Formats: sequence, C-alpha cells, structure tokens
Amino acid sequence: MSHPAEVRVVSQRFDDAAASTLAGYRASEGFRALEKALAMTPAAIIDEVKQSGLRGRGGAGFPTGMKWSFVPAQSAKPKYVLCNADESEPGTCKDRLILERDPFSILEGMAICGRAIGAQRGYVFIRGEYRYLIEIMERAIQEAYAAGLLGKNILGSDFEFHIAAHSGAGAYECGEESALMESLEGKRGIPRLKPPFPAISGLYGGPTIINNVETLASVPHIILGGGAWFAAFGPPKNGGTRLFCLSGHVQRPGVYELPLGFPMKRLIEEIGGGIPGGRKLKAVVPGGSSTPILTADEALNVNLDFDSVAKAGSFLGSGGVVVVDEHACMVEFALRIMRFYRHESCGWCVPCREGTNWLELTLRRFHGGGGRQQDIDLIRGVSENILGRTFCPLGDAAAMPTISIVQKFRSEFEDHLNGRACPSAAGNGTGA
Ligand code: SF4
Repeated sequence: MSHPAEVRVVSQRFDDAAASTLAGYRASEGFRALEKALAMTPAAIIDEVKQSGLRGRGGAGFPTGMKWSFVPAQSAKPKYVLCNADESEPGTCKDRLILERDPFSILEGMAICGRAIGAQRGYVFIRGEYRYLIEIMERAIQEAYAAGLLGKNILGSDFEFHIAAHSGAGAYECGEESALMESLEGKRGIPRLKPPFPAISGLYGGPTIINNVETLASVPHIILGGGAWFAAFGPPKNGGTRLFCLSGHVQRPGVYELPLGFPMKRLIEEIGGGIPGGRKLKAVVPGGSSTPILTADEALNVNLDFDSVAKAGSFLGSGGVVVVDEHACMVEFALRIMRFYRHESCGWCVPCREGTNWLELTLRRFHGGGGRQQDIDLIRGVSENILGRTFCPLGDAAAMPTISIVQKFRSEFEDHLNGRACPSAAGNGTGA
C-alpha cells in the first residue's frame, strides 16, 4: 500500500509479487535498461548517471556518476562492482525491501555499472542476519544466468558479467566499504587506510565500485527514463527519490518513497499520521542512529534532501527517520545508541574502542541515578575526542549523536541530577 504523496520509482514493483521472478521482472520493463545501456558507450552511461544527480543512498551521499568516473579506463588488474547490502544502521530497513521484492533491479544496476566501468565481476555482500534474502538473491542470480542475462555474451552482445552473492557475518563494521572488501577477501572485517580509494585499488587490489543497494536499484530507472527525468524529482544536486524508513513514535511507521526535498513535517504528520496519543514531538533522528539529532523545531522546518539536512546540522544518512516524543528520556536514548556502537566497535583504534566503552558505562551510571555534575561535560568531552580521530566513520557515528544530545537536551541530564523524574517513567521509554 502506498501513500498518495509517494513517488514510486525504486519501489514501483514492491506490491507486485511476480516481480521477484525473472518473468515478472521482465514483464515490467526489467532488463530493458541493460539492453539500452549495451547500445551506449561507457562514457555515455556515466554521463547519464551524472546528470541524474544520484547520490549514494547508503549514508555518505557521494555523487554516484562521479564515483564511477574515477575508475581508470585501463587496468592491469580486474575491476569489480560491489553491492553493499550490509544494511545494519539502526532505524534503516529499506534495502531489505529491495532485496526481497525487486532483486533483479539490483543485478541489472550492477551489470550496467559493470558495462560503464569495464568490470566483468560483481558481488552482492548481504548482511548475515538477512539470511532469507541471500536465498532470494541466489535464486535470482541463477535465473539470470539461465536466461543469458549474466555470464558471457549478455543479450547477444560482447559483454560478459558475473555476479555472486556473499553473506556477511553480522558485523555492522562491514558496512564500511573497505572493511567489506577485507571481509569479502576472507579476512577480518576491519577498515583499510585510505587513500588509495576503492575506485583505484579496491577488491584484490583492482579498481572497484562499491554502491549501496538503493543506489544500484535506481540505475536502471535512470538509464530508461533519462538522467534529467530523475534529477527533476529533487532540488539541484539532490536528484531523484529516496526511500525513507519512518519509525519511532508515529501512527504509521513504514518505508515511503518520496522526492528528495520533501518536508519532514509532512512525512511525520501527514504520511506517518502524527504521534500517537496527541503527545508532542521532542526530537528526530534524520538519517539513522549515527546522525546528529534534531530538535522538534529543527525537524519540522527542514526538507529531506542532503543539503537541507546538512544545513540544519545533521545528515540525511541512510534515510532512517526516527521520531521521538516528549515521553522519551534523552539520556536513555543516548545510552541505547552508545550501547550499539560499543558492541559494534571492531576494536582496532583506541578512541573508538575505549571511548565507546567508557561512554556507555558513564551514561548507564548517569541514567541509573549515579551521575555527577561533571559527567555531563565529561560525556561531551570524550565524544569530542573520538570525533575525527578514528580510522573509520564508526567513531564519528558514536560521537555525533551523543554530542548533539548533550548539547540540545542538557536540561534532561540536569534533571537526572536534581532528582526530578526521568521522562520515560511517565511514558513508554525511548521506543527507539
Ligand atoms: Fe574499528 Fe571503531 Fe576504529 Fe572503526 S573507528 S576502525 S570500528 S575501532
């Protein structure tokens, strides 16, 4: 069921049960984009993606066409296309739907990317907890091979492209592109030092493009409809639509596809049906748990595109919008976020390994009533010392929401010290 305000491009096959079979996918224009791309030059494909304004849907928001253009035309080593399906960011559950309901769109997007950069091999790296999706993807790959849509001489052309699905082992860290490649190579999933960036030296040292599921699933629509058509959905430099995962304290949580630039207020109130019980909005996480939190005022005045959310002091991230009502305790909220990042820290660098551990301990003590006045600045100070001092973005992901919570909801920390009731005691906790 879709909401009338939705614009369904990537999600257009979600309600079509047949689309997860090859026959059903082809009946709804499936693989026509690849056919069209095979008649284009690699440079023309990249230009079309550049024109679309498509930016990475996994979190960083880097322009996809520009990323593809970084791959050298000639390479002594094989080139690769990787699909990052290690979706693990709390509050984010959109890639799961694409993998489940429209798996061929991912394969088609990867093949088009392979044609554009001159790669012959790709891997779909799927989150370990998404075991049932691995089976769906493997079946889709087999069907595509049997129909000559993967392998040699695809659709009667000289193009050869192979794809295999690979299961992660349940580590959030492997969603980081270089840790993902380490894991894919059979090593421990810790990040690599950059540069070199994957487009120059990635999987097995070969030039590699790694894109998120939603990013790659957008590509066939861009090739068929044209880059300018896709770009026109959103404001300048923020092309297209986006799957937003609305969760937390709303009447109608769900995954909704909206044009970039859609007002957050409308997402929460009109599409989400507002907050249950007539309670007031307190805060919103705009793009998954790693993004700085917005106050109610900030959230209700921001549009959902990369640049507008950045201007408001946060990030559009992975599209995970978590709504927090007035009964939530922000100290508990910070604790829950930190507990996740402490658990997921790979332990390679000290600020992240030690900092997340001590922050969780301090927040737990604080929320339990054993806090000290100086702990408030200590929590902020430790977080600021993690920020920008770690090998990979997980350290920042732990630090940024914590800093924003202390900064914007300091009075709730003070309340815990002064014996006033924790707001979650009056309601239902963070619900996050
Ligand atoms: Fe590992 Fe954390 Fe350092 Fe990233 S920031 S490399 S997850 S210890």
